[in-house]
Amino acid sequence: MAFGWIDEQAELRRRAGLVRTLRPRPADSPLLDLASNDYLGLAHHPEVTEGAARAARTWGGGATGSRLVTGTTELHAELERELADFCGFEAALVFSSGYAANLAAVTALAPNGSLIVSDAGNHASLIDGCRLARGTTQVVAHAEPDAVRKALQTHDGSAVVVSDTVFSVDGDAAPLGGLAEACREHGAGLVVDDAHGLGVLGDGGRGAPHAAGLAGADDVVVTVTLSKSLGSQGGAVLGPARVIDHLVNAARTFIFDTGLAPAAVGAALAALRLLRREPERAARARTVADELHTRLTAAGLQAVRPDAAVVSVRAPSPEEAVLWAAECRAAGLAVGCFRPPSVPDGISRLRLTARADLSEGQIERAVRVIGETRP
Ligand code: PMP
Repeated sequence: MAFGWIDEQAELRRRAGLVRTLRPRPADSPLLDLASNDYLGLAHHPEVTEGAARAARTWGGGATGSRLVTGTTELHAELERELADFCGFEAALVFSSGYAANLAAVTALAPNGSLIVSDAGNHASLIDGCRLARGTTQVVAHAEPDAVRKALQTHDGSAVVVSDTVFSVDGDAAPLGGLAEACREHGAGLVVDDAHGLGVLGDGGRGAPHAAGLAGADDVVVTVTLSKSLGSQGGAVLGPARVIDHLVNAARTFIFDTGLAPAAVGAALAALRLLRREPERAARARTVADELHTRLTAAGLQAVRPDAAVVSVRAPSPEEAVLWAAECRAAGLAVGCFRPPSVPDGISRLRLTARADLSEGQIERAVRVIGETRP
């Protein structure tokens, strides 16, 4: 039977307790949300939703074509200018997702014969970029510049080091200074994914590379998503103008993809302008994360100290993680639940996201529910 193997896989998944299902979220969800990536609470901000609506009215429901044909509006160009300027880079290029931006950056910057050094904890989209690239990938130990150095020593010729700035599972930060140093010793380029850093880390949310003094460097390329702190949808690559020009001409997920929808561009632009005007939102997200961590630890839970806005709490097993998250939900709290195969180390976790707009009362309630429902 066609696709017969799917049923076998489904059965194995069911027996391992690893079946995933979709649960449509109602518009008026009564749940306290610690599961989304809306770090700054901007997805529903009236300026952001109005930015989306105005852009759709002016430019239409879709971009109407690929970026090199009809899909580049003046609004796309405006967002690219403002994003590059905010994060301190020469130029930026907007993609239809952060996923597509990562595929573009890695594939276009790692040609045949080159070496890609990739952190073992990298996001799936960077891993897929490595798989698609013509260069050869070497996966190195998590967050260890010396492992990167060693890998670079084995290779003559062009090389690129690829890492998340903030790892999405445990919320820990990459040693960006050490990575940049290792790259410079060997003339390698550095590509970092700041999906969880933009809007949270650095001066006023300018991101982890800005905080590490790497903004504007001619050997550093940054990818971001517009779907987390900026409360919109889409992604971008930031870097030297010559790299961005190269992506326009060589990155397949840019050339063959329809441009980002105008509404998403308008929402991201409005959120970026808000962030410039209200830089305290970034610091507040970090404070909320620290407070969550302190209170969870005081309640005897195993929480990882957050470097940005992701707070990870260990669960004893995948089954108990699922049950724990379900009990939180029944008690009015939405939390993320990470388990294999999303976590390569096999450790299941609840994943909480700190939001700048959480009140003290909400933080207290969240920690109480998580403590009371623990397995
Ligand atoms: N990189 C990281 C580290 C992420 O967590 C995500 C989102 N899950 C992405 C890239 C992909 O971004 P997008 O959702 O915009 O495709």
